[in-house]
Amino acid sequence: MKDWVKGRVVAKRQWNHRLYSMQFEAEVEAFKAGQFTQVALDIGEERVGRPYSLVNPPQDRPLEIYFNAIPEGPLTPRLSDLSPGDPIWISAKASGIFTLEAMPAARDLWLIATGTALGVYLSILRTAEPWERFERVFLVHGVRSADELTYAETLGALSDAQGERFRFIPALSREHREGMLHGRIPPLLESGQIEGQAGVAIEAEHSHLMLCGQSDMIKQVRDFLEARGMRRHRRNEPGHYTTEQYH
Ligand SMILES: Cc1cc2nc3c(=O)[nH]c(=O)nc-3n(C[C@H](O)[C@H](O)[C@H](O)COP(=O)(O)OP(=O)(O)OC[C@H]3O[C@@H](n4cnc5c(N)ncnc54)[C@H](O)[C@@H]3O)c2cc1C
Repeated sequence: MKDWVKGRVVAKRQWNHRLYSMQFEAEVEAFKAGQFTQVALDIGEERVGRPYSLVNPPQDRPLEIYFNAIPEGPLTPRLSDLSPGDPIWISAKASGIFTLEAMPAARDLWLIATGTALGVYLSILRTAEPWERFERVFLVHGVRSADELTYAETLGALSDAQGERFRFIPALSREHREGMLHGRIPPLLESGQIEGQAGVAIEAEHSHLMLCGQSDMIKQVRDFLEARGMRRHRRNEPGHYTTEQYH
């Protein structure tokens, strides 16, 4: 049985026809950047909850999640209909080990996201830890079209603060835009285009990668990394990549 806490929506932002960010106020326990919480609504007789990465860094409030409204999904169409003031359930304690403290030392940190998985990295990047532990950070965001490239202000502020140490690399799979990579992340890695934009190679000696989002992307990038002699990071057996699958 989960320890649910009653929260309240304080703001909602709709980015396009299916992408939303939602902010809540709720008395939850302290969490680490990279962790996820459970958000739930009472639907009929049932409490329907799903895991969501927290987008806000741990030191900031309100709490924030970033999600897709999936028409056939039980929760997200209802979640996207909420307005400020509406009640919501949230788990008292966040969980997960997709956090930097669980990562080994490396020179370069690569953060690879599809779709709404961008959010987890926005929490991590707004803490001091990546900038204390890594020389450079590359954030690769794979989306279908340019209207899914959200959080431009937050990314712009990170670029302004970190300069050359931070590089945002968007990739559009269904649209061509001048100056932006076209295609899905795995073939863009295979062809060397992502490393070309970064100006840095992904290699076992210097790189740690975090992969988050769609299972196909994670599997294909994992195969790419393993072909380069890189392996999954485990607590007792340090490696080169870490994953969190959303769907
Ligand atoms: C650890 C963890 C963290 C997660 N964090 C997030 C998050 O921060 N933001 C987020 O949007 N989702 C996240 N998810 C997925 C989320 O929990 C829900 O599955 C999703 O929001 C859909 O909920 P639903 O009840 O409407 O439909 P569900 O019944 O859960 O799913 C319906 C369909 O939608 C697909 N789907 C699920 N998530 C997504 C997605 N993000 N994009 C596209 N298709 C999807 C599923 O494969 C399924 O086919 C996370 C999942 C896990 C396991």
